[in-house]
Amino acid sequence: MAEDSPEPLVFLVGAGPGDPGLLTLRAVDLLRRAHLVVYDQLVPKRMLDFANPEAEVICVRDLPGLHPDKYPHIYTLMIEAARAGRTVVRLKGGDPLIFGRGGEEAEQMREAGIAYEIVPGVTAALAAAAYLDIPLTHRMHTSAVALITGHELPQKPGNKIDWEQIARFPGTLAIYMGIARLTVLVAELIRFGKDPDTPAIIVERASTGEMRSVTARLEDLEAVRRSAGLEAPGLILIGEAVRHRMPASWFERKPLFGRRVLVTRPRHQAEEMIRKLELLGAVPHVLPTMTITEPDDFGPLDDALNQLPNGWQWIVFTSANGVQGFFKRLLSRGKDLRMLGNVKFAAIGPKTAEALRHYHLNADVVPDSTFSSEGLVDSLRDAVRGQRVLLARANRGRELLRDQLAEVAEVEQVTVYCQSDAVDVNAEAYGSLRRGEIEFVTLSSSNIARALLNTFDETLRGRVQRRVIKLVAISPVTGDAIRSCGLEVAAEATTYTTDGMIEAIIQLAAEPRDPDDEP
Ligand code: SAH
Repeated sequence: MAEDSPEPLVFLVGAGPGDPGLLTLRAVDLLRRAHLVVYDQLVPKRMLDFANPEAEVICVRDLPGLHPDKYPHIYTLMIEAARAGRTVVRLKGGDPLIFGRGGEEAEQMREAGIAYEIVPGVTAALAAAAYLDIPLTHRMHTSAVALITGHELPQKPGNKIDWEQIARFPGTLAIYMGIARLTVLVAELIRFGKDPDTPAIIVERASTGEMRSVTARLEDLEAVRRSAGLEAPGLILIGEAVRHRMPASWFERKPLFGRRVLVTRPRHQAEEMIRKLELLGAVPHVLPTMTITEPDDFGPLDDALNQLPNGWQWIVFTSANGVQGFFKRLLSRGKDLRMLGNVKFAAIGPKTAEALRHYHLNADVVPDSTFSSEGLVDSLRDAVRGQRVLLARANRGRELLRDQLAEVAEVEQVTVYCQSDAVDVNAEAYGSLRRGEIEFVTLSSSNIARALLNTFDETLRGRVQRRVIKLVAISPVTGDAIRSCGLEVAAEATTYTTDGMIEAIIQLAAEPRDPDDEP
């Protein structure tokens, strides 16, 4: 490495096992800063949501050559990017130094004189233990853990792991990459004296709502795996520790564990909901149905802004997008919050009010419980009487608010952002929906409902009719929009928020499932 090593530009980063909550702060920080992210195929895709949207993101699978011939290309990519002054995150599943070839990559960087840092990650064995609630060590009976690869490279000098030693290891065995060779591994362990009765478990996708596991005596492990249909990649834990496994761990008992939920919000507004679902054990799928863009014509909004500070007594927002669109334009025209004077703000619900707080502004009116146009009219009718009211909203939507407020006040409506339908029927999530793999579809506005449901063919409509797919509406108005598409609503939120929808899903999920509920 060069003597006066410059700021490192290459970071070998552990992405952990799949739960984004297990990313380190350092990993998140670096992902946000990266110009280039090079990730292994096994890195859970969800982790890429934390990369800078401007970053170039490359999967090593897409580089030329077959594994392990991709390595020269991976190195060249990293070295050239670093030499060009770009920050490179080399993202690896779990921990980069545990069966991740992180050591080899670091060595290559040293040889090329490229400064680097290494960020550890939660390795699969630790995540599996935690999410299955199995102590890897235990004061009474297990004082050691071994991390072992079940996929030793045959050409490796010195060859092969010494399974005789491993069979005698006095502790928990955590075998990575061992599913494909399970029969051989088990036979070797038993041949060298491991008790065939030793408890063992295989787990796949540990730490995510897709986690699945099977437990068996060591001797029966392969047969049990096969009948349960667990395939590679998976982790094998063998040892007395596994005997303490409960029928369901704290994670498997989460109210939405393993339940698949479609999130239809625009991507930039989906993260909070996705995270909440993950924390409940669900498997979120994301299918944006809408894109948000600037208005085609800023004229009317600019006219309204020119009338600040005294032209309006009230500004009414019916979505967080509306708040963002309004203030983005105000600020981009070189104005600031002083322009607002004493104007009062109304917000349709808590999320919209929160968007205002982002600009250090409190909403003067938020409906108490009914976060809809009706609720807003009820809360505003007396307050705005005889005043000038600006409605800042999308290019489309219901006219109820304008019509009813206009009975008591002078109302002008301006478009501050545009919505357009954007259901990608070729998206992965749409495929999952078609195959009947997604159980709950959340619909957080009438426009979103119509945009998605209008793409439904007979197959998908049939799935809704048989309640294989359950449509969950954020409010009765969205429920009506669903029904007007000729489809049944499985549940309507009682508070008209994302949390309300999640609450409704939890209730539906608690209902016993119909045994005929096959896709
Ligand atoms: N560096 C990684 C391991 C890479 S080897 C780490 O530290 O975890 C790939 C193997 O890791 C897989 O074959 C599987 O055995 C294991 N693995 C990785 N993530 C896993 C997960 N979420 N659940 C179960 N096993 C996992």
